[in-house]
Amino acid sequence: MNPLLALARPDLLELEPYQHAAWEPALERLHANENPWRAPGDNSPAGLNRYPEPQPQSLIKALAALYEVTPDRVLVGRGSDEAIDLIVRAFCRAGIDGVLIVPPTFGMYKVAARIQGARVHELVVTAAQAFAPTAQALLDAWRPDVKLVFLCTPNNPTGNSYDESVIIEVARALLGKALIVVDEAYLEFAGRPSVARLQSDLPNIVVLRTLSKAFALAGARCGTLIADPAVVSLLQRIIPPYAIPAATIDIVERVLQPPQLVQCRARVGALIAARAALADALAELRCVRRVFPSQANFLLVEFNDAARAFELSGNAGLLIRDVRRQPGLERCLRITLGNPDQNRRLVAALEQA
Ligand code: PMP
Repeated sequence: MNPLLALARPDLLELEPYQHAAWEPALERLHANENPWRAPGDNSPAGLNRYPEPQPQSLIKALAALYEVTPDRVLVGRGSDEAIDLIVRAFCRAGIDGVLIVPPTFGMYKVAARIQGARVHELVVTAAQAFAPTAQALLDAWRPDVKLVFLCTPNNPTGNSYDESVIIEVARALLGKALIVVDEAYLEFAGRPSVARLQSDLPNIVVLRTLSKAFALAGARCGTLIADPAVVSLLQRIIPPYAIPAATIDIVERVLQPPQLVQCRARVGALIAARAALADALAELRCVRRVFPSQANFLLVEFNDAARAFELSGNAGLLIRDVRRQPGLERCLRITLGNPDQNRRLVAALEQA
């Protein structure tokens, strides 16, 4: 057996997957209990009366090209949120296995683990450590029940990236023991290479990517999990049938055309420039204690009075994220980069503090 699968839930390896209706686009479909007519007003290319292709091949190829990996390493889900849920369900037996997370970090790792009944081990990092654990600290925090180590880079909500050497050292030390799930949701804003290219040496690295941030498709819900083909095949057995809606397949294939990609990348460049300008403007404000360096499309900001700053931005019609419940962030708010007008209005609102 592939050693990665030895880490998975043994009962799932035996699971007979659901047999969805065969995908035979050349034939007329009387096998899936669909409606023969389109819904009134349905002008979609394929007709939404039909189930979409399960794990659509053209979409997988387009995403594989985007992320520079082979298609057999790609699993597409409804956002990377679905990928997080799937990987936890596939590798953690309820009440027995666990995950290791590094708070303050993205909340879904813990939620997905709790839903599955998996244990949650936490290695808390602080601002004094630049929110970056050492490889040794991660390995010390690892326990034999931990099947998944979630590393978010750049990290939400702190904005810092992990040194690749830390990911490599941890993955190497935990080969055969755990998967290292590297969430690169914000990678495009960091200008760094993906660790997916390391998977040939370190097959226990699993990478999460999303079109929700840099590619402006949060509403389409399209996330990609990049992993060893054995892991991808396992997850394909448990992902719900027809997981990706036809409308999502259409829009994603259009946005991933070369001219649209050029525009998306130009906008990422504009957001990166705006990030530096907004960080400077916020750092000048009397109500701001510090703006943490960010490699993402948001800034973590420490205020003298975060409740007042939250209220003032709300009064200006601008909703920012209250992250004060996360460990060590008691005075912090997370601000997503907006358009130039929104950024200006935010600074003006906070000037009143
Ligand atoms: N990972 C991180 C770090 C995130 O911040 C988010 C969204 N906030 C996600 C994953 C989920 O993204 P999506 O499901 O839209 O792909």
